[in-house]
Amino acid sequence: PRSGTIRHEDIAGLSQHFPPCMQNLYQTLRHNAHLKHVGRLHLGLFLKGIGMPLEEALVFWRKAFHKMSDDEYNKKGYVYNVRYNYGMEGKRTDYTPYSCAKIITSMQPGAGDAHGCPFRHFSPERLGEMMQRLSVSEQGAGEILRTSREGHYQLACTRLFELTRGRVHAAAQAQQNQQAAGQGGPPAFQLVEPIEHPNQWFDLSMGLES
Ligand code: SF4
Repeated sequence: PRSGTIRHEDIAGLSQHFPPCMQNLYQTLRHNAHLKHVGRLHLGLFLKGIGMPLEEALVFWRKAFHKMSDDEYNKKGYVYNVRYNYGMEGKRTDYTPYSCAKIITSMQPGAGDAHGCPFRHFSPERLGEMMQRLSVSEQGAGEILRTSREGHYQLACTRLFELTRGRVHAAAQAQQNQQAAGQGGPPAFQLVEPIEHPNQWFDLSMGLES
């Protein structure tokens, strides 16, 4: 889906196609019914990038902050923030979603922040837990932890894509070709290009299911 076709109620279903950074922001938002400023900026622009128009974004964020009264929500400028992302306020710039390089190097998350790149900003323990939740094999998790520790965050992310989303790809291939499935397990799955943008992960993940 592209350019203005995503509705606020689609997001829960589509979130399975979000990269780890955006999954983390979305889950934090769901859990706390709140997200701090930079997190809102990163997730908001990502959602704009996957095709959510301004009207839907306004509904999405208001519903997400469901514990807050209308009065407080309006006073704290959340509506302004959403409109700002769409170039309707302030400098009226039509902002684009942040790339991995920008998320990794700028605006380092502090206490209580959920933004950032998990491969760069999570502790090894937390990264390990994330991979367990995603059912990554011990070997795969070890490789991803090592790659992250060496500072190759986007390569680690690319590998996670291959190991998790690759299962979808392998299942589809096996269905198309029963014979291949009979010849010793699913084929190895490799991305042609490394992950450089959260929206690239989303597009690739969606592409595997179409
Ligand atoms: Fe997100 Fe990019 Fe980090 Fe992957 S490498 S988690 S897409 S910022």
